[in-house]
Amino acid sequence: MLKTLQGIIRTGNATVKYPFAPIERPKDARGKPEHDLVNCMACGACAVACPPNAIQMVVDPQAQTTSWSINYGRCVYCGRCEEVCPTKALRLSAEFELAVMDKNDLEEICMYTLQPCAECGSPFAPAKEVDYAYRILTQFIDDPDAREAAGLVKVCPRCKQKRDSQRAKQGFGSLGGAS
Ligand code: SF4
Ligand code: SF4
Repeated sequence: MLKTLQGIIRTGNATVKYPFAPIERPKDARGKPEHDLVNCMACGACAVACPPNAIQMVVDPQAQTTSWSINYGRCVYCGRCEEVCPTKALRLSAEFELAVMDKNDLEEICMYTLQPCAECGSPFAPAKEVDYAYRILTQFIDDPDAREAAGLVKVCPRCKQKRDSQRAKQGFGSLGGAS
C-alpha cells in the first residue's frame, strides 16, 4: 500500500483537464487546413495532391466557373495541399476541434471565374491562374520566348494548336513542299 502511494506521488498527474481546460498543442501539430480564397488562383495543384480527395474542383463551362471545395470530414491532415500550393493559399492551422451536428457543415466551397479564350471565346482555365502566369512571364519580357508566351497566355490550347499547325503549313509551303 505504502509502495503504491509512493509510486502515485512520484508519477504526479498523468491526465489533463481537457476538454474542461484548453490543451497545449505541439508546435508542429497539423490541424484544419485554412484556405485563403483571395490568394488562391484555383490552379488545382492541391486537389491533385490530396490523397483522400478531400479537395475537389468542378468546372462548369456553361456558367464559366470552377468551384474549389474542401471536405474536412475526408481530410487526413497530411499537409500535402500546403506543400504544393504555389501561392501559400493553404495552411494547416492548429485547430482540431471540428465536430459538427450536420456533416454538410464540414464542407467549404468557393467559386472562381474561368478565362474565355481571346480567339474563340471558350472558357479554358481559371482567370486568376491565367493572370498569375501572365505576371510571371512579363517579368522576363527581355526573353523573346517569354514575350511570345505572354502574348498567347489568354489563348486556349486548341486555338494555340491551330496557330501552330497553320504556321507549320506555311513553313512547309515556303519550302516548296505543297503540291
Ligand atoms: S491536409 Fe491532406 S487530406 Fe487534408 S486537404 Fe490537405 S492534402 Fe487533403
Ligand atoms: S494549390 Fe493553392 S492556389 Fe492552387 S487551387 Fe489549391 S489553394 Fe488554390
